Amino acid sequence: MNISLPDIDRLKLAKKESTKNVTILGSTGSIGCNTLDLISRNKDKYTVKALTANRNVDLLAKQAIEFDAELAVIADEGLLNELKEALMGTDINAAAGPKGLDEAAELPAEWVMSSIVGAAGLKPTLTAIRRGATIALANKECLVCAGGFMMDQVKDNGAVILPVDSEHNAIFQILDFDNPETVDKITLTASGGPFWNTDISKLKEITPAQAVDHPNWSMGAKISVDSATMMNKGLELIEAHYLFPVDKNQLDIIIHPQSIIHSMVSYVDGSVLAQLGTPDMRTPISYALGWPDRMKTPCKKLDLTEIGNLSFIKPDDEHFPSLKITREVLQNGGSAPTILNASNEVAVYAFLEGKIGFLDIAKIVEKTLTKLSFHKLTSLDDVLEVDEHARCVAHELITGISE
Ligand code: NDP
Repeated sequence: MNISLPDIDRLKLAKKESTKNVTILGSTGSIGCNTLDLISRNKDKYTVKALTANRNVDLLAKQAIEFDAELAVIADEGLLNELKEALMGTDINAAAGPKGLDEAAELPAEWVMSSIVGAAGLKPTLTAIRRGATIALANKECLVCAGGFMMDQVKDNGAVILPVDSEHNAIFQILDFDNPETVDKITLTASGGPFWNTDISKLKEITPAQAVDHPNWSMGAKISVDSATMMNKGLELIEAHYLFPVDKNQLDIIIHPQSIIHSMVSYVDGSVLAQLGTPDMRTPISYALGWPDRMKTPCKKLDLTEIGNLSFIKPDDEHFPSLKITREVLQNGGSAPTILNASNEVAVYAFLEGKIGFLDIAKIVEKTLTKLSFHKLTSLDDVLEVDEHARCVAHELITGISE
């Protein structure tokens, strides 16, 4: 069953509470830095409770001092002393490891940006969900790997999810949540990444440096590779399934290389609503940060005459096997998306480390899926067990390739 986003009553409640205290899980990444950029322009409106990073102590400490955070957390426990040293002379608390991330998520911030990359963000995001926080969700992997279970937790705990992914944020802005039966289909637009028009015969030679060089968006390495394989769009298809009250077969994908239309909703009367803007993540982040109000951003204003033409291409499964794989995974449901996400994470980092080729990423994911059976996920432990098992299988397959 699909679970819709917050209804009007919850929206009003969130407005009344006003989103003052914020925590950013993954503050040193691309989304985290963009979020802090917006906060720095509205410092009187937000109090930063906690900031977290994986290994980037210098930037984390700098951010924590600049925004006078209550707590700074470094996920790599070996770096705790370094963080404490960097925060010496301040009253900012330092913590580390999974317990530290949980501590950050527990602090009473009404608004939590979930922008850790990968399934590593799942536990702290769930912690914030369980205390009923408003979650600005950038981390699509945690929704893909824990899907229905995570949305049940949202519902049971009165939490609110605000999609930050530009496509889902666009849909959030234009979908008639009160009348989902009037929706004919949702179309996710995709830039197509750097290789949508590269000859298939050349794809196997793609290097990590070429894959992370996205033509429109400036993003972290993992999502950039996902965009290049179009696995990102597949993950987003699954994300959309969990977020929006439509059937799986009402979700469509179209390549739109200019990244101006961020997604579209077609209604039964033939109307198509779209959300447009220049490709700058500060627009969707600001929508979640200011929600339910809009806030000013420094983003370049859209000038369609400057752009001239917008183009659209039907994606080709042969060019982008990840799309076919994710559509099948979406149909299977249960633990299949968890396996997909875990094996993709392992394969992407193996590619970035030069252990496998670009085309091996989708092959590893597909093979991992065929080696494991699927079941309905019942608990967080179940999710984590499936995730770990899939990672082991993917690692074995990679060892087979690189030997
Ligand atoms: P980045 O790689 O730029 O940043 C990731 C953040 O997570 C950093 O703060 C990093 O810390 C931290 N981190 C990494 N690994 C761990 C770990 N194991 N435990 C705890 N923290 C960790 O990623 P992005 O900002 O690009 O993306 C973040 C999420 O948002 C992803 O899920 C992505 O799919 C999604 N997203 C991103 C968009 C974008 O434009 N960038 C657009 C839409 C969605 P450190 O800096 O120390 O490594």
